[in-house]
Amino acid sequence: MEKYKLTFELVPEECWGYSLYRKLSPADWDKVRKDAYKRAGYKCRICGAKGRLEAHEQWSYDEKNALQKLEDVLALCHACHEVKHIARTQMTGRGMDAMEHFMKVNGCSQAEFHEALQKANEGYLKRNKVEGWVTDITWLKDKFDIVLR
Ligand SMILES: [Zn+2]
Repeated sequence: MEKYKLTFELVPEECWGYSLYRKLSPADWDKVRKDAYKRAGYKCRICGAKGRLEAHEQWSYDEKNALQKLEDVLALCHACHEVKHIARTQMTGRGMDAMEHFMKVNGCSQAEFHEALQKANEGYLKRNKVEGWVTDITWLKDKFDIVLR
């Protein structure tokens, strides 16, 4: 069980190029995306914000078996999505906003933010040592009648 409602998801470097968004046809991605928004009641799944939503691919990582598994596609607001991809967000100079959103949604202090980020980074470094990640998208195949391109 995660301590916080809004967490970081640091993708292993080797998997950076993998994105459903790029693997699916625009029409299929639209189907997946819109389904996520509908399931979320057109609100951010984490903080409940209404307005423009983005689709976030949620993966789990099994280091022992080098298995990257798609668990869900989540409807998130832009602010929550930026926290999920904190490394990329910090590189674009929006790290402070992401930190503030993390603290607000999770009701935690700045020290706790840094502690959580450090823990996420440790997990990231561990996962980065694993080679030959295999991708499991059973979730997608079971849910949608979709063919990858
Ligand atoms: Zn949100």
